Amino acid sequence: MLFTTAGMHPLIPYLLGDEHPDGSRLVNIQRSLRTGDIDEVGDATHLTFFEMLGHWSLGDYFKREAITWSYRFATEELQLPKDKLAVTIYAGETSRGIGSDEEAAKIWRSLGVERIDQLTDDNWWGPVHATGPCGPTTEIFVWTGNNEPPTDSLPGNDDRWVEIWNNVFMEFNKTTDATYQPLKQKNIDTGVGLERVLMVVNGYESVYQIDLFEPLIAAISPDKSLAHADRDVRVVADHIRAAVFLIADGVEPSNKDRGYVLRRLIRRAVHVAGRLDPFNWPTAVEAVVGAYADEYPHLLERPIAKVFMTEQSKFYQQLERAKRFIAKSLEKSPVANAQEAAALAFLAYQSHALPLELGYELIEHHVRHIDRNAFESSLDALVQAHQEISRAGSEKKFGGHGLILDTGELKATDEAELQKVLRLHTATHILQAALRHILGDHVQQKGSDINPERLRFDFTHSEKLTDNQIRAVEAWANDIVDQDLPMQSVDLPLHEAERTGALHFFNHKYPPIVTVYYLGNDLTTAASKEFCGGPHVARSGEVGRITITKEQSAGAGIRRIKAIVA
Ligand code: ATP
Ligand code: MG
Repeated sequence: MLFTTAGMHPLIPYLLGDEHPDGSRLVNIQRSLRTGDIDEVGDATHLTFFEMLGHWSLGDYFKREAITWSYRFATEELQLPKDKLAVTIYAGETSRGIGSDEEAAKIWRSLGVERIDQLTDDNWWGPVHATGPCGPTTEIFVWTGNNEPPTDSLPGNDDRWVEIWNNVFMEFNKTTDATYQPLKQKNIDTGVGLERVLMVVNGYESVYQIDLFEPLIAAISPDKSLAHADRDVRVVADHIRAAVFLIADGVEPSNKDRGYVLRRLIRRAVHVAGRLDPFNWPTAVEAVVGAYADEYPHLLERPIAKVFMTEQSKFYQQLERAKRFIAKSLEKSPVANAQEAAALAFLAYQSHALPLELGYELIEHHVRHIDRNAFESSLDALVQAHQEISRAGSEKKFGGHGLILDTGELKATDEAELQKVLRLHTATHILQAALRHILGDHVQQKGSDINPERLRFDFTHSEKLTDNQIRAVEAWANDIVDQDLPMQSVDLPLHEAERTGALHFFNHKYPPIVTVYYLGNDLTTAASKEFCGGPHVARSGEVGRITITKEQSAGAGIRRIKAIVA
């Protein structure tokens, strides 16, 4: 995991049976970050960063207490009106051999709650891996519609019900034969979103109206009382707040892992803010720090605004370079239609990290009357064709059109990094060929990731590589480097491309025309050929000495190597 996404993460060992020093009844407040929710940010209830409140039973109290106490807390402490609450319980599924959670339903009814929906997927939790603790859940929803909720309205059929609270009953252990055995230690795991609670308690329309957001929204949009309802303002506010907390926790903008997520949050905020009236960024950052510093004093320890501003100016410089590139390209060869315009946008994205969503605007600035739909769909097709399915999960979750400077597999911010990742990319092709040569044709790519420091390559193979095998792979690969073969590419209809024997993913949907990159003088005798979107170095000699620095398991039947070039 790159980030903590829920209150349970830090408690996993204790949920599995380790003794917690504070006992068997716990409460916590966990700052959580969910990049998977980024596309929903801007609606009334989803944030990337939020605080999750939880209470926990480690083999202590169970269903009756958890339900009763959460209901009492919701109705007595938070004073939420009873007729505006609904709950969901697990409906039961024959595939699991587990019936509906009648016990939970009975407890809810005994408390006077009648609005009970029964769901399957939403009301089953876990296990985290193939086996382990899991169980049914019950969730509490609050009505946010204008009038009274209609009689037949339920969370499953009416999205005016907003989920505030999830109670997980960890009562089963899923075993290797996929049966569910009752757990000896039954746990309670609850998660309550602080921002959503504040929203419903105050009768607000969205989480952006709560006190904690107020100074930030005011800093972003000083004159407008309805700014909190503007989707762009919401996105900018969410991303600034999330970025502030990430920076405070020690993340630096970069091209990989957490740093990459941070970079994209900041750049997306900067980009979306471009559609708003200008505002003072350091003031906005300070508004977050000011709202939270009492509870999270570590926010005062890092120069957060400075990190923000540095990243912002890097982004602007890059954007300027991309703009100049487009202007120059158009001068040299004007575009005649939407397809050509999309191709230019894609080129600017690959070579100058132009955010894809800005492509249309920038080209339209020079060339009028480009059909927007045709442009977007051509661009989508290009992105699809050039994305390897191996891109890391965390990036995938950002959706196709982010503010990226990558091809999915390759990431670089400047010219030097670009040269380095191109060499590593070609080295990856050479290594795949070498592995197949030394280990056998069962070797298939399972994943690939390249940053300016190293390449990483996952492939099917069931045993650990011996030292001799590693040396043999390196020797074969470096021999290809020494031969200084040209890296060439050819676009072919899919069937023809398949017939060349070029490596590709079997259950991947490819476009009708694909690009095959091959290393050698012709396709038939090439030392390596793969379906690939590029880019690569021009000759294998440019790659330099390839050294495998690590060999390890990456799951059942999958090995992982890391390698560098010098
Ligand atoms: P939803 O279906 O509304 O996305 P969820 O099922 O993903 O919610 P859980 O994973 O059960 O939510 O998380 C527990 C609680 O955390 C939720 O009841 C909600 O109050 C809060 N929560 C979850 N996701 C978010 C989010 N993106 N922004 C703010 N609060 C959230
Ligand atoms: Mg969710």
